[in-house]
Amino acid sequence: MRELTTSKENTWCVGCGNFGIFAAVKATIKRLAEENIPLSNIVMTSGIGCHGKIFDYLNLSGVYGLHGRALATAQGIKLANPDLNVITFGGDGDSLGEGLEHSIFAAKRNMDITMILHNNGTYGLTTGQASPLSPSGFRGSSTPMGNVEIPFNPLTLMMEAGATFVARSYSAKISHLSSILYEGIRHEGFSFIEVLQPCVSFNNTYSLYNDKCAIFDELPQDEEAARLLAKDKSAYHLGVFRKESRPVYHEQCRPAIEPLSRARRLDLFEGRL
Ligand code: SF4
Repeated sequence: MRELTTSKENTWCVGCGNFGIFAAVKATIKRLAEENIPLSNIVMTSGIGCHGKIFDYLNLSGVYGLHGRALATAQGIKLANPDLNVITFGGDGDSLGEGLEHSIFAAKRNMDITMILHNNGTYGLTTGQASPLSPSGFRGSSTPMGNVEIPFNPLTLMMEAGATFVARSYSAKISHLSSILYEGIRHEGFSFIEVLQPCVSFNNTYSLYNDKCAIFDELPQDEEAARLLAKDKSAYHLGVFRKESRPVYHEQCRPAIEPLSRARRLDLFEGRL
């Protein structure tokens, strides 16, 4: 198997939670490769922000998207070639601010894509502005007096939108994160995985998460229980909140898209495109 780390200089800040996500993603891809999923069948897209640099460091094919558009390109890739495993990396500002509509509609359609949300609660790349997941009172360069908004709850938001796999992990719990990523990628349908990711420079949440993260193993017994767990403010619960089966978008569109896909692949093969 080829080396999964590229030779690009890594410019994440020392201690950034993105390192943990990167390690967990590589471990997951190695596990998939051991199960005979070729690397050529795994494709990634990313948006813009500190999270997006993973595109430079991870040795996979894909599309480095515009701000908030990682899921738009991911959906196009999946429709053009449903055989691919498509993984999308997004930041909380990127995916729930600029790209909110793509996130909601990808979940609604049950696109067979895995979305990894790097939740650092700020726009780190542009020096710490408030993002859609910044807590109330967050002091950053755009909110020096404290954020007056309330953050989204990304888990219940994506449950309501229709994601069929919804989970949360923490970048410092690499083994837990890797097993959640594996389960999400293996799930057929839209997998939304929130990763709590400290930003040491503008929103250092290590102490908070180390104190308040709690892993659960059993899938909540019903929708109500899943929502209560996701909304519980006494702890950051880590695990799978929802896992259910629903027809995926590209299957439901057959035969409408399949002939097009086959014809275009033939054109590509014969050099007409
Ligand atoms: Fe990580 Fe924050 Fe530094 Fe960006 S600014 S690399 S999110 S620590």
